[in-house]
Amino acid sequence: MNIIVCAKQVIDISEMKIDSSTKKPILQGVPQKISDIDKNAMEEAIKIKEKLGGKITVLTIGPANAKERIKELLAMGADEGVLVTNSDYIDYYMTAVLLAEAVKKIGNYDIIICGEASVDLFSGQIGPRLAGLLNIPQLTYTLNVTAEKDKITAERNMGDMAVTTESNYPVLITVTKEINEPRLPSLMQILGSANKPINEWTADSLSSGLKPLVETVELKGVPMERKNIIYKDDIDESISKLVDSLAKEGVIGG
Ligand SMILES: Cc1cc2nc3c(=O)[nH]c(=O)nc-3n(C[C@H](O)[C@H](O)[C@H](O)COP(=O)(O)OP(=O)(O)OC[C@H]3O[C@@H](n4cnc5c(N)ncnc54)[C@H](O)[C@@H]3O)c2cc1C
Repeated sequence: MNIIVCAKQVIDISEMKIDSSTKKPILQGVPQKISDIDKNAMEEAIKIKEKLGGKITVLTIGPANAKERIKELLAMGADEGVLVTNSDYIDYYMTAVLLAEAVKKIGNYDIIICGEASVDLFSGQIGPRLAGLLNIPQLTYTLNVTAEKDKITAERNMGDMAVTTESNYPVLITVTKEINEPRLPSLMQILGSANKPINEWTADSLSSGLKPLVETVELKGVPMERKNIIYKDDIDESISKLVDSLAKEGVIGG
């Protein structure tokens, strides 16, 4: 099984601060990481490879320093990486087109795995757009996947129900955070990842003259007001008041 995992480098939003005067996020100096759900995508790829054999390629569009993030996924178990670098702002459309062109250049593939959404911009568009551009079936929001030699079965999270769907290959799946627990690489695997290949391609070499269709006008933090309620009574009474308040707010069933 040849598997391509699309993984995005994101800023660690838990470390991000908002400028209180402009309400704009301060992005300089914020640490970068692999989008959490893309580690679930990687884990699922490894499980499929362990069962059916094959090769895992990690594909990332991002700046040159994203190479360091790709190494984390090589340490987890990917066989090789592809980094597509771009110099200017790219939007959802361009990201999907560049991923599709990179997938075509990688060539022989059976499964493409994406996260259901990235943890920073969270549009959830890329997987479905990519499947559309490649004209292949897609199984989105998967909770559980069983890959066999000639077909794949997926349980998909539809909110209040789960739907089980089957597909032939090639197929694109998007995974949810609930699908698995990503493994931590051992020290040996981290050291060994240094010898695995990472190909670097430029966006222009894949598709020249691409222009964004969506303009991001402003990035702004959403102010969240805190109620600052402190329960000072004894512990049982405080818990009971907290539960009452949460029920009143509709957070838990009353
Ligand atoms: C102001 C602004 C400037 C930006 N500038 C740049 C820029 O210069 N360069 C740049 O690369 N991006 C840039 N982006 C980000 C880019 O537009 C988004 O990463 C992209 O459109 C995907 O959107 P998303 O994160 O909501 O994807 P989602 O659809 O939520 O992501 C779902 C899944 O798609 C896959 N995926 C998404 N993005 C990538 C990726 N980049 N590589 C591999 N797999 C991916 C992952 O599997 C991910 O889990 C910028 C965004 C903004 C708002």
